[in-house]
Amino acid sequence: MTANKILFLVLDGISDRPCPALGGKTPLSAARKPVLDKLAAEGICGIMDTISPGVRPGSDTAHLALLGYDPYRYYTGRGPLECVGTGIDMKAGMIGFRCNYATISPQGQVIDRRAGRIHDTAALSRAIQEGVDLSKFGVEFIFRSGAGHRAALALEGEGLSHCVSSNDPKKEGVSPLTVKAMRPGAKEEKTAAVCNEFVNQSTKILFDHAINADRLKAGQNPANIVLMRGAGEMGDFEPFQKKYGLSGSVISAASLITGIGRAVGLPHIEIPGITGSVNSNVKGKVAAAINELKTKDFVLMNIKGADESGHDGLAEQKRDFIEKIDGELEPLLGLKDTLIIICGDHSTPCTIKDHSADPVPVLIRGDGVRMDDVVRYDEYTCAKGGLNRITGTALMPIALDLINKAHKFGA
Ligand code: ZN
Ligand code: ZN
Repeated sequence: MTANKILFLVLDGISDRPCPALGGKTPLSAARKPVLDKLAAEGICGIMDTISPGVRPGSDTAHLALLGYDPYRYYTGRGPLECVGTGIDMKAGMIGFRCNYATISPQGQVIDRRAGRIHDTAALSRAIQEGVDLSKFGVEFIFRSGAGHRAALALEGEGLSHCVSSNDPKKEGVSPLTVKAMRPGAKEEKTAAVCNEFVNQSTKILFDHAINADRLKAGQNPANIVLMRGAGEMGDFEPFQKKYGLSGSVISAASLITGIGRAVGLPHIEIPGITGSVNSNVKGKVAAAINELKTKDFVLMNIKGADESGHDGLAEQKRDFIEKIDGELEPLLGLKDTLIIICGDHSTPCTIKDHSADPVPVLIRGDGVRMDDVVRYDEYTCAKGGLNRITGTALMPIALDLINKAHKFGA
């Protein structure tokens, strides 16, 4: 018997370092989690350097590696994937930026980097799309709203580069920066000029917009400037289905993850009530994943809440979240013909409130997998498992082999 489908569950930022608040345990080792432990007991476990030992992964580079796309080849900045996440159809070579709507004072100083946490900026983004003209540079652009105060900008044209800086001063009370070339070159100079022109024209449009007049009247910060950062060039992604011969879907609340999915041709399944937070509808996600697997070969599901608790430094909340989702993962125990992979994308230790390079625990469970002696899913126990220590880009090849879809190398 061999599994022929793959459920790939990424518990975002799940692993940790010893937490003083938990008597020196990690949230994962302190949590009561019978379902994850049973899956570990029925499978093979190990630890994983998502990118390579000592490299602290972002969620984006980590997920690229987990899907088998070398981030050193495919990743030049967060912008392009953010663009894809807002629904922009990014073609290879286009330059993408992540943007924020922000507030500047009449004197030109950034006074709120999130524009009063404005939401529903679609009309503002439409006004920018219709009003800004970059044709004198021979450049087309697409500007789209994201969630809340976020947006994304994509540039398309000859002679552009992603090696430009940001206009975001990253703090309040100072003027926005001028976008500059990050290395000498005509493409870099041109792209910086395009960006500065975009900011100038869009700022004028935003200052005059009725929505902002209304916000000022209501005592709210207007969204009167676009801050852009994370420039990157869209990579030439080989479609997932072509690369592996597997159809698939992505289930995630995070636009960055759904953007990565779209970039490799994996559609995103919408689920009501998923928030990317500790209150997310994990039950709905699990049911949707199981349903998808009726017609698809592969589902990538990301559950985000633990990462958020790690960034907030809340070890007990992180442990409680793990206990909550563990119960909601119970339907996975009955999943037939499916290889279940569970791992983190990086550690998010509560003690550092950011990602670290500590390897993440990984388990693979399904028919035909060589079970090891590991009966608990945590950082310490998985380190003793039969998978030993692997890298993120090795995971898809290992999974393909286990479902008998790997090709023989040699005679
Ligand atoms: Zn992550
Ligand atoms: Zn994070």
